[in-house]
Amino acid sequence: MRCLVRAEGVRIDRHDIQSGDASESCRAEDSLVVCNLCQSNELRRLPYHYLWEEKRFQGMKCRRCGLIAVDPLPSDAELERLYSHDYFDTGLHGLDQAGVDYETLADRRLDSTRRFIRQVIRSRHAAATGLFEVGAAMGHFLQAAQLEGYRCGGIEFSPTAAERAREKFGLDLITGNFEELDLSGQHEQWDVVYNGDLLEHLRDPAAAVERLAGLVAPGGICVTRLPGTFNLLSTRLATPLLGALGRSMQLPDKPYHLYEFTTGTAHRLFSRHFRSVEIINEANPPGKLNLKTRSAGYVAKYIMQYVNYPLTRWTHRFGDRMTVIARNRSFR
Ligand SMILES: [Zn+2]
Repeated sequence: MRCLVRAEGVRIDRHDIQSGDASESCRAEDSLVVCNLCQSNELRRLPYHYLWEEKRFQGMKCRRCGLIAVDPLPSDAELERLYSHDYFDTGLHGLDQAGVDYETLADRRLDSTRRFIRQVIRSRHAAATGLFEVGAAMGHFLQAAQLEGYRCGGIEFSPTAAERAREKFGLDLITGNFEELDLSGQHEQWDVVYNGDLLEHLRDPAAAVERLAGLVAPGGICVTRLPGTFNLLSTRLATPLLGALGRSMQLPDKPYHLYEFTTGTAHRLFSRHFRSVEIINEANPPGKLNLKTRSAGYVAKYIMQYVNYPLTRWTHRFGDRMTVIARNRSFR
């Protein structure tokens, strides 16, 4: 049973949690019947969901390993509509609501991206000369890497974005789906394999990490940036509270994030294919939070960030951004 109520601008679903088995309202042809990370089929409903094209995408958590995913996973046709040509202009999870398009924001970040490359990548693998990015978009990260002296390569799903990377930065990107392309020519060719905000968008992140590992040269590293919303104190507190109240928060985005990772699940994901895994937690200062709505939930998140931000700086935990540095098996 389900009824919709509205409170202070937040769309809340109230469920009869007695009948709250995921299979009843969420299972469909492409349903997440099995956890992508541990293959368990014991999943429990989390109190958040997306509603897109009149279809509900329910947040679910694996009882065994803790991986969070939406159920059902979008179909191929739905993914195609999600990443239509205007994705970088208006569809990019709320950047449009902040009045900034992807390219403008990426242009502004050149200095901070170069700093990230020096502080996080160069400091961990000083001898690296080649850097390959999976999901290179319009090539802004690779431009920064070129300026830092790397020989660069990359792959991008969107032909429009790849063309922009060629026009703007002279980058010759491979175009296509990373999960399907034959990348045997790139096998073990790259000292550094980088990807940012990629894995949470893919239907099979476990297979994607195996493919990433295959690109890393002996002695190399894979550097991955992930959102970590479920690491935040505000999310950790709100999740059991909403669950106990039998409520579910409808997120304002389209279901771009098929998965949500925590430090625990990110570590598990990478440790299968790499010798060692280091995870850096960062939190945005409150003023830099992208508040997608002024709903009660987001206002509470904003207030909690005043506690969370210094806490993350102090403890290196509870961040909303993670950088995973995975060292290849032959890393010295
Ligand atoms: Zn699992």
